[in-house]
Amino acid sequence: MTKSLLGLFAAASLAVLAACSETPAGEDAPPADAGEINLYSSRHYDTDLALYDDFTKATGIKVNRIEADADALIERIQSEGEFSPADLLITVDAGRLWRAEEAGIFASVDSPVLKERLPSHLRHPDGLWFGLSTRARIIIYNKAKGVPEGLTSYADLAKPAFKGQICVRSSSNIYNISLLSSVIAHKGAAEAEKWAKGVVANFARAPEGNDTSNIDAVASGECRISVVNTYYLARYAGDPEKKAVFDAIGVIFPDQDGTGTHVNISGAGLVKTAPNRANAIKFLEYLTEEKAQRYFADGNNEYPAVIGLKANSAVEKLGTFKPDTLNAAEIGKGQAEAVKIFDRAGWK
Ligand code: FE
Repeated sequence: MTKSLLGLFAAASLAVLAACSETPAGEDAPPADAGEINLYSSRHYDTDLALYDDFTKATGIKVNRIEADADALIERIQSEGEFSPADLLITVDAGRLWRAEEAGIFASVDSPVLKERLPSHLRHPDGLWFGLSTRARIIIYNKAKGVPEGLTSYADLAKPAFKGQICVRSSSNIYNISLLSSVIAHKGAAEAEKWAKGVVANFARAPEGNDTSNIDAVASGECRISVVNTYYLARYAGDPEKKAVFDAIGVIFPDQDGTGTHVNISGAGLVKTAPNRANAIKFLEYLTEEKAQRYFADGNNEYPAVIGLKANSAVEKLGTFKPDTLNAAEIGKGQAEAVKIFDRAGWK
């Protein structure tokens, strides 16, 4: 089969998907010649739809979406090979962006706009991907049990004083892998392993559930301490029905006197084989405009990545903090080592 024929099939299948999922046609039909972009995304928030609509209204460029989990999308782009209709891959966590980078699916983008708007630690050094929003992995505690004395850093979680007090999700979770990867980057593998073993020794129970269920466990007093992503707690802050849970929780932004609190990103990269390269770069730049940043960050209660923009009011309730400025690419690189260390430490 010829490349153009295959491309046609791919485009047709995307068009069907787009037709199923987009707002009804008829209002402000885009100019027929502005083209399109094909977005492979593991994000699916309602606000993202407004984000895409606004882009189409402003540029006439149609946005076709394929949504699946990140690993499935990476595999799909790989198996589609040079005929892939994918222009951009959007996903969460530096670990997943790193997997995409390792799979060789990204092309370098050199955009003065993106360089100016995004701090350097939130974009790949060679422009392979760009962070668009951030989340921090914070320590939380049960207020009724009192402020845990001497707990101000991730390192402190390994102190014997907190024996039997920590609940956390499994080490197979990418957020924990990325956190440990950042410890490796800052302190080396040997220290990171010592730390992981110390935290395991302080577990109140075997790792289980997700960040949300661990927030609930801390609020109910089942555990005193946990480590969770900010947006899960911000969801509770913004939900009147969850106010009691939120009020029961104290927040510690770790390492404020040191390297700063571990942050991770949602980000996007240009696919190497992108058939609509120029439009895709235009879209990437659009995502860093203030209004787009609002939609993008608010969709999941995250922090905007662009310098100078604030988070929404629910997120702000968690407090302000100094973020770790370790480049997300470094967090990606340590993933394999982190998995091995978790294994040896017995963090299930
Ligand atoms: Fe999450």
